[in-house]
Amino acid sequence: MASGQCLCGAVRFSLTVEPRFFYRCHCSLCRKQTGVGHNLATLVNVRDFRWEEGQTVIASWRKPSGYRNDFCSQCGSTVPNILRETPYFWIPLGLLDVQSSMACVGDFCTDDAMPWDQQRSEKSHPTAPDSLGFLLRELQVDVD
Ligand SMILES: [Zn+2]
Ligand SMILES: [Zn+2]
Repeated sequence: MASGQCLCGAVRFSLTVEPRFFYRCHCSLCRKQTGVGHNLATLVNVRDFRWEEGQTVIASWRKPSGYRNDFCSQCGSTVPNILRETPYFWIPLGLLDVQSSMACVGDFCTDDAMPWDQQRSEKSHPTAPDSLGFLLRELQVDVD
């Protein structure tokens, strides 16, 4: 069990699982989305995710390529969104209240990383994950 909320608390959600793994993406979009060198995120099966409050204040920005940033229209925090047409939710790690340690399963798009963004795990990938299946396996997400 885990829960999460945005900066102002208007958007709240809960998980019936406690994520143990996350990944970093260093691409230019994730950099702009977060305002720092990379994002940290994990995925959960939709059946393990529940909105608790605030779905109506969520705004969404989408690129034609499919990249999407859902955010709280009150405070600007990036909030979870459903990963395209998949049964998985993308969760920005900083919103979670998980207190146990979590392990990074990999860094992606490291070819796009800025010179001042040096943090890397043992598994460094120059590009985005080859497939969602690969990422799900790395994160040990419950798949149907
Ligand atoms: Zn908010
Ligand atoms: Zn990215």
